[in-house]
Amino acid sequence: MALFNTLVIAGAPNDDIIIVLRCLDAMLTRRRKQVTLQRAMAFLKRLSTLSMHVMPNASVGILAANRATMHVSHLSHGAPSDGSSALSVELCRRSPLELFEDYSVKDMTFNPPVAPPAYKKKVGKILLIFSHVFILIVTFMLCVGCVTARLLLGGDHRKTEPDLCQETGDISLEKQVYSVSEHVQVMWNLVRRYKLQSQSSVSWASVWNCLALTLYNHLIFIFPLTVLNWYLRPVLLPLEAPPLPHLLAQVLVCLLLFDFQSFIWHLAHHKVPWLYRTFHKLHHTYTSTSALTAEYSGAWETLSLGLFAAANPLLLGCHPLTEMVFFIVNIWLSVEDHCGYDLPWATHRLIPFGLYGGSRHHDLHHLKSKYNYAPYFTHWDRLAGTLYMED
Ligand SMILES: [Zn+2]
Ligand SMILES: [Zn+2]
Repeated sequence: MALFNTLVIAGAPNDDIIIVLRCLDAMLTRRRKQVTLQRAMAFLKRLSTLSMHVMPNASVGILAANRATMHVSHLSHGAPSDGSSALSVELCRRSPLELFEDYSVKDMTFNPPVAPPAYKKKVGKILLIFSHVFILIVTFMLCVGCVTARLLLGGDHRKTEPDLCQETGDISLEKQVYSVSEHVQVMWNLVRRYKLQSQSSVSWASVWNCLALTLYNHLIFIFPLTVLNWYLRPVLLPLEAPPLPHLLAQVLVCLLLFDFQSFIWHLAHHKVPWLYRTFHKLHHTYTSTSALTAEYSGAWETLSLGLFAAANPLLLGCHPLTEMVFFIVNIWLSVEDHCGYDLPWATHRLIPFGLYGGSRHHDLHHLKSKYNYAPYFTHWDRLAGTLYMED
C-alpha cells in the first residue's frame, strides 16, 4: 500500500517514479521466489490502473514493470511472446527504469524514436476475407448461378420466341409478359428433365418427417456436442489464411478419408442384419431420395458419421478455414448424393474416368440396397465388387 500511495502522490513531476520502479524491481523481480501469485495479481491490478493516471513516461515504466511481474510469476506462461503492436526485442530487453528514462514526455516518443508498429498482421486479417479461397467460392457460386439461369431462362426463350413472332409478326408487350405460374411451370419442367426416378415425387409427409427428425437430431445431440466441443477445444483463429493449394489438398485428403470410413461403416451396417435393422434401416425408408433425406437417419448413424467428419481435419492438423471448407463441401456432396437429380453441374460430371459416383451412384444404392456403399468415390466399391452403374 505504501508503494501504491507513493505512486498516487508521485503525480506530475514524476520524480518519485524512479524510486518506485527501483522498489518494484527489488520487491517483485529480484525476490521473485517470495512473491505469491495473489500478491503478484494484486500488484498487476493496481499498477495497471495507475499506469493510466501518470505521465506517459511513467506509464511506460509501470507497464514494463507489470510485464516483468507477469513474466517472473509465470502468469504469461503459454502466451505468445509477440503480437501486433508489440515492443521490439531491443526495447523489451530494457528494464522498466531504462524505459522510463528513455521516454521523452516532451516529444511523446522514445529517445531515439521508435518506428510505429507495422500493419502486416492487419493485412493478414483482410487476407482471410479476400483470400484465394473466398474468390474461388464466389466464382463457383457465380458459375452455378449462371448455369442455372441459362438452363432455366435460356431454354424458355428458345422455345417461345419463334412462336410469338410467327403468330403476330411483331412481338407485342402483352405476349412477352408471362404469367408467374406459367414461368414457374416452364422452369419446373426443365428441372424435372434431370430427375433420376422420374415417376416418383416428394410428398409433404416425407418433407415433414425429414425436417422433424433432422431438427430432433440437431437439438438433442448435435447442438449439445457442438457446445461441449467449443468449451473443450476453444478455436484460436490464426491471422493468416492457409495457402490455397495446401487447403485444397487437405480438403481432398479429408474427403478421401471420410469416403473410406463411411464405406467400411456402410458395408458393415448392410452385411450384419442386426446392425442394419437397428441403425441403418431408417435411412432406407425412402427408395427415392430428396435433398432432405440426406439427414434422415438415426442418432447412431448421424453421430458416428459426424465423428469421422470431425476427426479427419484434427488428424491432419488442418487450419480452421480448411476445416470449415471441408465441412461445407462434405455437406454439399452429401445433399447432392440424395437430391434425386442428375444435374448438369453435378460433381461426377466434373471428375473424369468415373472416379466419382455422386447422385446417380447413391440413388441406385437406395433403390437396390446391395451396391454402391461408398458415399462419394467409386474406387472402394470397384475393389469390393459392389459397384453398380447404369448408363
Ligand atoms: Zn445403405
Ligand atoms: Zn443415403
